[in-house]
Amino acid sequence: MQVLLVEDDNSLATGLSKALRNEGFAVNHVAEGRAALHVVATEPPEIIVLDLGLPDMDGLDILRQLRQSGSAVPVLVLTARASIDARVTGLDLGADDYLSKPFEIPELIARLRVIERRLSTQVDSTIRIGEVELDTLRREVTCGGEYVEMPRREYALLKSLMENAGKIQTREQLETRLYPWGEEVSSNAIEVHVHHLRKKLGNDLIKTVRGVGYTIRRS
Ligand code: CA
Repeated sequence: MQVLLVEDDNSLATGLSKALRNEGFAVNHVAEGRAALHVVATEPPEIIVLDLGLPDMDGLDILRQLRQSGSAVPVLVLTARASIDARVTGLDLGADDYLSKPFEIPELIARLRVIERRLSTQVDSTIRIGEVELDTLRREVTCGGEYVEMPRREYALLKSLMENAGKIQTREQLETRLYPWGEEVSSNAIEVHVHHLRKKLGNDLIKTVRGVGYTIRRS
Protein backbone atom coordinates (compact mmCIF):
# COMPACT_ATOMS: atom_id res chain seq x y z
CA MET A 1 0.00 0.00 0.00
CA GLN A 2 1.48 3.32 -1.03
CA VAL A 3 1.21 6.11 1.55
CA LEU A 4 1.94 9.79 0.97
CA LEU A 5 2.96 11.39 4.25
CA VAL A 6 2.50 15.18 4.30
CA GLU A 7 4.23 16.44 7.44
CA ASP A 8 6.58 19.36 8.03
CA ASP A 9 7.94 18.09 11.35
CA ASN A 10 10.95 16.23 10.02
CA SER A 11 11.73 14.14 13.06
CA LEU A 12 8.12 13.00 13.30
CA ALA A 13 8.08 12.28 9.56
CA THR A 14 11.27 10.22 9.78
CA GLY A 15 9.96 8.17 12.70
CA LEU A 16 6.58 7.61 11.06
CA SER A 17 8.11 6.67 7.71
CA LYS A 18 10.31 4.10 9.38
CA ALA A 19 7.50 2.61 11.44
CA LEU A 20 5.14 2.41 8.46
CA ARG A 21 7.80 0.84 6.23
CA ASN A 22 8.36 -1.80 8.88
CA GLU A 23 4.65 -2.56 8.61
CA GLY A 24 4.95 -3.09 4.88
CA PHE A 25 3.70 0.29 3.65
CA ALA A 26 5.67 2.07 0.90
CA VAL A 27 5.97 5.62 2.24
CA ASN A 28 6.76 8.79 0.34
CA HIS A 29 7.20 11.98 2.32
CA VAL A 30 6.71 15.64 1.43
CA ALA A 31 6.88 18.54 3.87
CA GLU A 32 4.77 21.12 2.01
CA GLY A 33 1.23 21.44 0.73
CA ARG A 34 2.06 22.39 -2.84
CA ALA A 35 4.39 19.42 -3.15
CA ALA A 36 1.60 17.19 -1.85
CA LEU A 37 -0.86 18.45 -4.47
CA HIS A 38 1.74 17.98 -7.18
CA VAL A 39 2.35 14.37 -6.13
CA VAL A 40 -1.35 13.59 -5.99
CA ALA A 41 -1.77 14.96 -9.52
CA THR A 42 1.21 13.16 -11.00
CA GLU A 43 1.62 9.97 -8.99
CA PRO A 44 -1.53 9.38 -6.94
CA PRO A 45 -0.90 7.55 -3.65
CA GLU A 46 -3.36 5.04 -2.22
CA ILE A 47 -3.64 6.76 1.17
CA ILE A 48 -2.64 10.26 2.34
CA VAL A 49 -1.61 11.01 5.91
CA LEU A 50 -2.03 14.79 6.12
CA ASP A 51 -0.78 17.16 8.78
CA LEU A 52 -2.93 20.31 8.97
CA GLY A 53 -0.29 22.81 10.07
CA LEU A 54 2.02 23.10 7.06
CA PRO A 55 4.39 25.97 6.25
CA ASP A 56 2.87 26.99 2.89
CA MET A 57 -0.78 25.93 3.08
CA ASP A 58 -3.41 24.87 5.55
CA GLY A 59 -4.01 21.14 5.37
CA LEU A 60 -7.75 21.75 5.21
CA ASP A 61 -7.23 23.75 1.99
CA ILE A 62 -5.30 20.84 0.54
CA LEU A 63 -8.15 18.53 1.43
CA ARG A 64 -10.67 20.92 -0.13
CA GLN A 65 -8.66 21.18 -3.36
CA LEU A 66 -8.24 17.43 -3.53
CA ARG A 67 -11.94 16.76 -3.21
CA GLN A 68 -12.84 19.58 -5.61
CA SER A 69 -10.52 18.07 -8.19
CA GLY A 70 -12.47 14.83 -7.86
CA SER A 71 -9.79 12.83 -6.02
CA ALA A 72 -11.31 10.20 -3.75
CA VAL A 73 -8.01 9.07 -2.23
CA PRO A 74 -8.52 8.28 1.47
CA VAL A 75 -7.09 10.98 3.75
CA LEU A 76 -6.18 10.51 7.38
CA VAL A 77 -5.72 13.89 9.03
CA LEU A 78 -3.10 14.47 11.74
CA THR A 79 -3.52 17.54 13.80
CA ALA A 80 -2.57 19.28 16.99
CA ARG A 81 -5.90 21.14 16.74
CA ALA A 82 -7.97 19.07 19.10
CA SER A 83 -11.12 21.18 18.91
CA ILE A 84 -14.38 19.61 17.87
CA ASP A 85 -14.76 22.37 15.25
CA ALA A 86 -11.54 21.39 13.50
CA ARG A 87 -12.54 17.74 13.47
CA VAL A 88 -15.98 18.47 12.09
CA THR A 89 -14.56 20.76 9.40
CA GLY A 90 -12.06 18.08 8.40
CA LEU A 91 -14.66 15.36 8.19
CA ASP A 92 -17.04 17.69 6.33
CA LEU A 93 -14.33 18.34 3.78
CA GLY A 94 -13.95 14.65 3.15
CA ALA A 95 -11.29 13.42 5.56
CA ASP A 96 -11.69 9.69 6.18
CA ASP A 97 -10.25 9.70 9.66
CA TYR A 98 -8.75 12.03 12.21
CA LEU A 99 -5.94 11.58 14.71
CA SER A 100 -4.98 14.20 17.30
CA LYS A 101 -1.34 14.84 18.11
CA PRO A 102 0.28 13.49 20.17
CA PHE A 103 -0.69 9.97 19.14
CA GLU A 104 0.82 6.52 19.46
CA ILE A 105 2.22 5.04 16.25
CA PRO A 106 0.33 1.72 16.69
CA GLU A 107 -2.89 3.76 16.74
CA LEU A 108 -2.02 5.35 13.39
CA ILE A 109 -1.12 1.96 11.94
CA ALA A 110 -4.40 0.46 13.16
CA ARG A 111 -6.37 3.31 11.53
CA LEU A 112 -4.44 2.89 8.27
CA ARG A 113 -5.22 -0.83 8.31
CA VAL A 114 -8.92 -0.03 8.57
CA ILE A 115 -8.70 2.24 5.51
CA GLU A 116 -6.60 -0.34 3.71
CA ARG A 117 -9.18 -3.06 4.36
CA ARG A 118 -11.88 -0.80 3.02
CA LEU A 119 -9.92 -0.34 -0.22
CA SER A 120 -9.24 -4.02 -0.63
CA THR A 121 -11.47 -6.46 -2.47
CA GLN A 122 -11.28 -8.57 0.71
CA VAL A 123 -13.39 -7.87 3.78
CA ASP A 124 -11.63 -9.94 6.44
CA SER A 125 -8.29 -9.26 8.04
CA THR A 126 -7.39 -12.84 7.10
CA ILE A 127 -7.32 -13.59 3.39
CA ARG A 128 -7.47 -17.20 2.28
CA ILE A 129 -6.80 -18.28 -1.27
CA GLY A 130 -6.34 -21.97 -1.88
CA GLU A 131 -3.86 -23.31 0.65
CA VAL A 132 -2.46 -19.89 1.43
CA GLU A 133 -3.66 -17.79 4.33
CA LEU A 134 -2.46 -14.27 5.00
CA ASP A 135 -3.20 -12.66 8.34
CA THR A 136 -2.89 -8.91 7.81
CA LEU A 137 -3.09 -8.09 11.52
CA ARG A 138 -0.32 -10.44 12.62
CA ARG A 139 1.52 -10.12 9.29
CA GLU A 140 1.81 -13.87 9.04
CA VAL A 141 1.52 -16.24 6.12
CA THR A 142 0.71 -19.93 6.30
CA CYS A 143 0.54 -22.44 3.48
CA GLY A 144 -1.35 -25.67 4.16
CA GLY A 145 -1.35 -24.66 7.82
CA GLU A 146 2.45 -24.34 7.96
CA TYR A 147 4.03 -21.01 8.89
CA VAL A 148 6.01 -19.50 5.99
CA GLU A 149 8.90 -17.11 6.64
CA MET A 150 8.39 -13.92 4.59
CA PRO A 151 10.78 -10.99 4.25
CA ARG A 152 9.06 -7.60 4.30
CA ARG A 153 8.89 -7.00 0.53
CA GLU A 154 7.77 -10.51 -0.33
CA TYR A 155 5.04 -10.13 2.25
CA ALA A 156 4.01 -6.73 0.84
CA LEU A 157 3.90 -8.14 -2.69
CA LEU A 158 1.86 -11.18 -1.70
CA LYS A 159 -0.48 -8.98 0.32
CA SER A 160 -1.01 -6.60 -2.57
CA LEU A 161 -1.81 -9.49 -4.93
CA MET A 162 -4.09 -11.30 -2.49
CA GLU A 163 -5.97 -8.17 -1.44
CA ASN A 164 -6.62 -7.42 -5.07
CA ALA A 165 -7.31 -11.00 -6.10
CA GLY A 166 -9.01 -11.07 -9.48
CA LYS A 167 -7.34 -7.84 -10.63
CA ILE A 168 -4.20 -7.70 -12.75
CA GLN A 169 -1.46 -5.48 -11.36
CA THR A 170 1.36 -4.20 -13.53
CA ARG A 171 4.99 -4.42 -12.50
CA GLU A 172 5.04 -0.63 -12.18
CA GLN A 173 2.04 -0.61 -9.84
CA LEU A 174 3.60 -3.30 -7.70
CA GLU A 175 6.93 -1.46 -7.62
CA THR A 176 5.34 1.77 -6.40
CA ARG A 177 3.60 -0.21 -3.66
CA LEU A 178 6.81 -1.89 -2.54
CA TYR A 179 9.44 0.78 -2.89
CA PRO A 180 9.55 4.42 -1.81
CA TRP A 181 10.78 7.10 -4.22
CA GLY A 182 14.44 7.39 -4.88
CA GLU A 183 15.14 3.82 -3.91
CA GLU A 184 17.25 1.98 -6.44
CA VAL A 185 15.00 -0.77 -7.83
CA SER A 186 16.55 -3.32 -10.14
CA SER A 187 14.52 -3.88 -13.30
CA ASN A 188 13.69 -7.46 -12.36
CA ALA A 189 12.99 -6.85 -8.64
CA ILE A 190 9.34 -7.89 -8.84
CA GLU A 191 10.18 -11.02 -10.88
CA VAL A 192 12.71 -12.03 -8.25
CA HIS A 193 10.17 -11.62 -5.42
CA VAL A 194 7.59 -13.59 -7.41
CA HIS A 195 10.16 -16.34 -7.98
CA HIS A 196 10.78 -16.60 -4.22
CA LEU A 197 7.07 -16.57 -3.45
CA ARG A 198 6.44 -19.38 -5.93
CA LYS A 199 9.21 -21.44 -4.36
CA LYS A 200 7.54 -21.05 -0.97
CA LEU A 201 3.88 -21.23 -1.95
CA GLY A 202 3.84 -23.34 -5.10
CA ASN A 203 3.71 -22.35 -8.75
CA ASP A 204 -0.06 -22.17 -9.14
CA LEU A 205 -0.95 -19.23 -6.90
CA ILE A 206 0.58 -16.26 -8.72
CA LYS A 207 -0.21 -16.08 -12.42
CA THR A 208 1.96 -14.17 -14.85
CA VAL A 209 -0.02 -12.10 -17.30
CA ARG A 210 2.45 -11.92 -20.14
CA GLY A 211 3.64 -8.41 -20.95
CA VAL A 212 1.36 -6.89 -18.30
CA GLY A 213 2.01 -8.06 -14.79
CA TYR A 214 0.69 -10.49 -12.22
CA THR A 215 -2.55 -11.63 -10.69
CA ILE A 216 -3.97 -14.09 -8.19
CA ARG A 217 -7.35 -15.62 -8.97
CA ARG A 218 -10.08 -15.05 -6.47
CA SER A 219 -10.79 -18.13 -4.40
CA1 CA B 1 2.92 20.79 11.25
